[in-house]
Amino acid sequence: MKDWYNANPFFYAKIPTLQRIFIRQNAYKCAVIDISAIFHRLSIYRFMHLSSKLLEQAVHAFTSLPGIGKKTALRLALHLLQQDKERVQDFCNALGQMRTHIQFCRTCHNLSDFETCDVCSSTTRDKGMVCVVESIREAMAIENTQHYNGVYHVLGGLISPLDGITPQMLHIDSLVARVQTGEVRELIMALSPTIEGETTIFYINKQLESINADVQISSIARGVSFGGELEYADELTLGRSIVSRVPYKIGG
Ligand SMILES: [Zn+2]
Repeated sequence: MKDWYNANPFFYAKIPTLQRIFIRQNAYKCAVIDISAIFHRLSIYRFMHLSSKLLEQAVHAFTSLPGIGKKTALRLALHLLQQDKERVQDFCNALGQMRTHIQFCRTCHNLSDFETCDVCSSTTRDKGMVCVVESIREAMAIENTQHYNGVYHVLGGLISPLDGITPQMLHIDSLVARVQTGEVRELIMALSPTIEGETTIFYINKQLESINADVQISSIARGVSFGGELEYADELTLGRSIVSRVPYKIGG
């Protein structure tokens, strides 16, 4: 236990020198304090007995949400208890209505209140430009930039043989069908720069080649992020930035 700091080189390297000396001298004490604190917290939440079964049910329901622990769940449940009954009912109705009535757009597979989403049914959108994204979250992120006036196509995932995700499980056939209508002139591949993302782009490209589709395929720029410092960029990112350099434009 005395050499605890030697067994944690990664953690140890991140601690300023003065604190290292302190930890070296008090390694045993620190470890005991840390472990007892963890056990203390675990015992509180594992054996959290509430005075009401109904409250327990509500806390349990909240903990089923991602990122919500028992402590947060209890705080949320108690917060709702302090609200008017009508307000809490409105809150529950909103969740129920969303779950019951929301659907996927039959054209782009994005979330929609109707068979066709607002973007696909808009008359001001450029239907010839289709941005291909992995999920609705990426479509929302691009939409929030307010720099895109085309439409979308949500694949519903990326090809990943290791995870058992095959092309047939994604909305690739419907993308090819959209291109075959002749309405699409450009596909913008806004997929993650990962093996799965590159594999998916490659597969879609091959599918479109096989039907001699007359469509331009582009991918979003990949390189150094805005506000990032060059010396901290990894070699692959920096290399791609040089290869994919763009002409300088004032205000561009
Ligand atoms: Zn749509």
